[in-house]
Amino acid sequence: MESTEEKPVHLLLHACCGPCSLEPVRLLRQRGIEPHIHYANSNIAPADEYARRRDTIRAWATEIGLSFAEGTYAPDAWEATAGRIGEASDGSEAQRQARCRACYRVRFEESAAYAAAHGFGALGTTLSVSPYQYGWIIREELERACEQAGIRSFFEDYSPHYAEATRRSREAGMYRQVYCGCRFSEAEAAAEREERAAAREAEKARRAAAREPEERRLAARRAQRAAYDAKQAHKRAVLKALRAHRKEHPDA
Ligand code: SF4
Repeated sequence: MESTEEKPVHLLLHACCGPCSLEPVRLLRQRGIEPHIHYANSNIAPADEYARRRDTIRAWATEIGLSFAEGTYAPDAWEATAGRIGEASDGSEAQRQARCRACYRVRFEESAAYAAAHGFGALGTTLSVSPYQYGWIIREELERACEQAGIRSFFEDYSPHYAEATRRSREAGMYRQVYCGCRFSEAEAAAEREERAAAREAEKARRAAAREPEERRLAARRAQRAAYDAKQAHKRAVLKALRAHRKEHPDA
């Protein structure tokens, strides 16, 4: 795992949600770094989803004795930047990257300003846990926001720990969201789920079609065997009846 700063004096950790915070906090504490959580996520829509994620991470932070601060929930400000890019998007990958870059920017600028105002020396983020995020853009935006606020950037790539974060959050019964956060990602995730379901159905149909000749052959074999067995049973019954008849009429 790469780190731009090995020993930050006082680390503020921008956190997107509880599940993504599990591993970064464990790894940081292992190295003797006690982070302070900053939940600054105006990207999350709708508001009750924002609150649900916040309550989940706050409850967990309290449970493990981690300090927690909530940012300002300002979805309108997010809409004016990242949201506007999303609206104008042609659906291309480049446009999606531009939207996510603007989204990271809004959140990191808020966290960096908070860090500078509250005496933190460095800012990190849990966003890099997800392999579905743009790691290099996260890094660039974190560095940009930190430079602007006059603090150090503490970027670390936590994506190798994604599987463990997933396992631990499931085991802990933590709320796990099914989309990144913004309204666009909610629609994209739903479309991707539909695509995956359709692909699974197509694969099921393809396998059934591939199995059909073999199943027909086996059915024919079973029918043949049943006919043979019936014939043999009939023969045995006839012979038995014959033997019984001869026994009763030995002179016939
Ligand atoms: S997909 Fe995620 S990172 Fe990208 S704009 Fe939406 S909430 Fe932000």
